Amino acid sequence: MPEELVDWRRQVLGHLESLQAAGVGWLPNAPPLVLDVIPSVTQSPTVTEARMTASAPTPTAMVAAATAVSSLDERRQALQVLADEVKGCMKCSELCSTRTQTVFADGPPGVELCFIGEAPGADEDSQGLPFVGAAGQLLNKIIAACGLKREEVYICNILKCRPPGNRAPLPDEAANCRGFLERQLDLVKPKYICALGGSAATNLLQTTLSIGKLRGRFHDWRGIPVMVTYHPAYLLPHRAPEKKKDVWEDMKTLLGKMGRPVPPRP
Ligand code: URA
Repeated sequence: MPEELVDWRRQVLGHLESLQAAGVGWLPNAPPLVLDVIPSVTQSPTVTEARMTASAPTPTAMVAAATAVSSLDERRQALQVLADEVKGCMKCSELCSTRTQTVFADGPPGVELCFIGEAPGADEDSQGLPFVGAAGQLLNKIIAACGLKREEVYICNILKCRPPGNRAPLPDEAANCRGFLERQLDLVKPKYICALGGSAATNLLQTTLSIGKLRGRFHDWRGIPVMVTYHPAYLLPHRAPEKKKDVWEDMKTLLGKMGRPVPPRP
């Protein structure tokens, strides 16, 4: 089976199982669900697969159906189910043996803008929320400078567990966590994404280009415009505070694309 189809199928099943566990028994405007139009990746079908049979749609229609959960409340519930699944994840043996807890996200579904960082640090690992340490304070200032409140954006990371010593995510770890991020973004449905730092950008966009080449312009993630900028930790006084002006340029470009007014520089 083509790799793309395998990936689609995995995503559809993940969505459907999250929704089913959240108590969603039907999908609006969806054709009858047929999971067996896509040949099975595994030998034994899941409960969802066994239950949802009928005739018809293409894989694309199925992805659309699975993500066309209409109400914000259903999406909030499905995100909670996903966060619980993340809590139990044991895919990365080092990370799950060293983490205090997983760090899923901060923010509600349905917001316009999603910030994606690299991975939780020590403060995030202890509090269970992303961007609550020194870099988080700076991110809060960036959000405020954009004329937004932190509660009006969604914040998450490529990895949901802290890498020991705050090392960069390993490729295997990012790959293990990717499905969670994709399902999370499919449920949040942000209109714009801002990738914070090279690690977030390269992992999200699956590119090897450097942050210098990526920042300042829009990229695409499944139809969503993605602005890449420097990570707030890089802007801290002991690193490169002079790059704050570049981040502000990037934010102005992003606000322009969002059709929002650009507040005067703080
Ligand atoms: N750095 C990140 O990339 N994410 C966090 O949540 C905190 C610091």
